Amino acid sequence: MKIREQSCYADFVCIAGDCPDTCCRSWEVVIDEKTKAYYETLPGELGDYVRSCLITDEEGDTCMKPKDGACPMLLESGLCLLQKELGEQALSRVCDRYPRFTHSFGALTERGISLSCPVACEMILYEPFLLTERTNNDPPDLNDLDPDGFFALLQGRQIAFRIAEDARFTVRQRMALLLRFAEELEDSLWDAEEVLQNWSNADLLPETLAALQPSRRSDFGKLTALWQQMEPLTERYPQLLRRLQKPLPLPDEAMEQRLLQYFLYRYFLQAAYDGKLLKKVQLAAASLLLCGAIFAAEHPNTREEEVDLIHLFSRELEHSEPNLAVFYRWAGRRRQYLLRSLLLLS
Ligand code: SF4
Repeated sequence: MKIREQSCYADFVCIAGDCPDTCCRSWEVVIDEKTKAYYETLPGELGDYVRSCLITDEEGDTCMKPKDGACPMLLESGLCLLQKELGEQALSRVCDRYPRFTHSFGALTERGISLSCPVACEMILYEPFLLTERTNNDPPDLNDLDPDGFFALLQGRQIAFRIAEDARFTVRQRMALLLRFAEELEDSLWDAEEVLQNWSNADLLPETLAALQPSRRSDFGKLTALWQQMEPLTERYPQLLRRLQKPLPLPDEAMEQRLLQYFLYRYFLQAAYDGKLLKKVQLAAASLLLCGAIFAAEHPNTREEEVDLIHLFSRELEHSEPNLAVFYRWAGRRRQYLLRSLLLLS
């Protein structure tokens, strides 16, 4: 099995009680079956308390019943009662793993950390984007991926990473090129040789970019209106969205590039499961535009303020399945022109 990881993956350490925005607040904490069975055997007052906090949600999952908007196990110190009393092995899988994510593709496993955690966000925004690789003796995971489509996506993502770093263009121009590339690759996913060959030729990119005509009538309001349809997880977020005016590029181009690389790493290969590559790349494009608009509206001055804004954006989008579904229902071919125009005119 090949294991690929963001280089910061191994260095991530949760700061628990020192966290400025703990993940034990705002989210539903789902309890997996194994952990639920363990909680059912816990003796004494602690066991009774934990069991009294379990509820079943609308989807039939067992969860912690929130108390004052937070997990009932969250102590005033910012620590987790279960972790403090019983250690990490007492945590539900979701608590134990967050903010780490794992994607399995048969003989390849990819791991990373999520932008929605402030500590992980700081690493993603300020450390160079690097991937590490190693192999172990584990057998491949069972999967029903189409090998041709998957290998086309793997090669395609390599090309996408090169475009994301191409210093001849602004990051917004690179993103516009990537939207075009995603459209062509999605159309030929099971016979992609010619598309991959064309896009491997970096000499052709300036000409391709010149042919991408932006519309003078690009309307950023359409994108903010979409975000306003999403279900907010925090009170502060809708107010922030109302202040957005212009999707300007992030002042630090290197940071904007790292954001783009994060989204490519996390989402591009997910198209192996549904073939919908364009929507995945549009998620990256829309995220760059929204993050740029958030910075333009809020003028963050410090690293803490930058991390606060970007992790909030990610938390509201990437860690809400309903909100991601809102985006994916909206995304698609009809949105290409709008996204491309906003990127090229901003
Ligand atoms: S958000 Fe990140 S740093 Fe904060 S408590 Fe959760 S995992 Fe730890």
